[in-house]
Amino acid sequence: RAPDHIRAIMPYQPGKPISELAREMGLAESSIVKLASNENPLGMSTRARDAARMALADLARYPDGGAFALKAALCRKLGVKPEQLVIGNGSNDVLEIATQAFLRPGCSAVYAQHAFAVYPLATQARGARGVEVPARNFGHDLDAMAAAISPDTRIVFIANPNNPTGTFLPGGDIEAFLHQVPQDVLVVLDEAYTEYLAPAQRYDAIAWIERFPNLLVSRTFSKAYGLAGLRVGYGVAHAEVADLMNRVRQPFNVSSVALAAAGAALDDEEFIEQSAELNRRGMQQLTDAFVALGLEWIPSAGNFVTFKVGDAAGVDRALLRQGVIVRPIAGYGMPHWLRVSIGLPEENARFIAALKQALA
Ligand code: PMP
Repeated sequence: RAPDHIRAIMPYQPGKPISELAREMGLAESSIVKLASNENPLGMSTRARDAARMALADLARYPDGGAFALKAALCRKLGVKPEQLVIGNGSNDVLEIATQAFLRPGCSAVYAQHAFAVYPLATQARGARGVEVPARNFGHDLDAMAAAISPDTRIVFIANPNNPTGTFLPGGDIEAFLHQVPQDVLVVLDEAYTEYLAPAQRYDAIAWIERFPNLLVSRTFSKAYGLAGLRVGYGVAHAEVADLMNRVRQPFNVSSVALAAAGAALDDEEFIEQSAELNRRGMQQLTDAFVALGLEWIPSAGNFVTFKVGDAAGVDRALLRQGVIVRPIAGYGMPHWLRVSIGLPEENARFIAALKQALA
């Protein structure tokens, strides 16, 4: 019999595959617009695609478990040492590994209401106690989070920008928060959407690690880099923290194809700029439509936006019937809201037209 803390876990609800949904709705697969998982509508950069193809040539060998080449590329880009890096099978893996290394039954982890679903999941999987701190304006209330830290707290999770609300904390606020956190508590700063920040919002959390050896910055290749299907993310921390995490990490947790593609993607800065620009325009397109429709939405710093429709389950069904997939977020305690990812201009237009229909 599995322990009670495992039985108590609410399973993560992945979306249905497009093929299955098309069959259910009696629609052609090609007519479906999926704006449900905050993916890059441009796909991946050609450099990453080429590198992935090359790596396919030798799948008989294990991947480089030390991720030598990818770590070298990250070190050049971020100005850190290889000993400070933990490479994950998606940044979910980095978050999981952090909980494996730092949590056990009797400990607690602090996170915000409406924050990313993996924080409570990973905490519960370790048999630790999750402390959910009420949100302020749908975002993290850092003062309340600092006050929620107790002697048994070992991790605080912060998502910036947060998913699913898109809320953003200025770098200065996070730095001030770090001063309030005891140094034996790991602060996991999840920057999955950091490439989408406007120039004025940008801050350099990695530069804080020297002063705050209890800071872990986690990032991903799944969003702006367009490699969600390959599963690669990374954590940057003080070498001691990274060492502890690498002890519990599976030795070959990231595939050779993923390692190769991520290394190549990292060098393609033009692709990231292009993706961020497309996102800015798409965000404007969607929020203009929300204004026209008289809908409330939460200003978002990510590649998605959350909007209020009242009967979210009903509107979601009406969108699905028209072949548009968005994300209901009732599981995040927001039963009246839907989250839509920014797509290509024509995909956004399809979503807007379907939403008008759904609300009519
Ligand atoms: N953090 C946040 C805030 C996210 O929204 C996501 C993806 N939904 C992740 C981490 C994990 O993404 P991945 O495992 O693909 O890197």
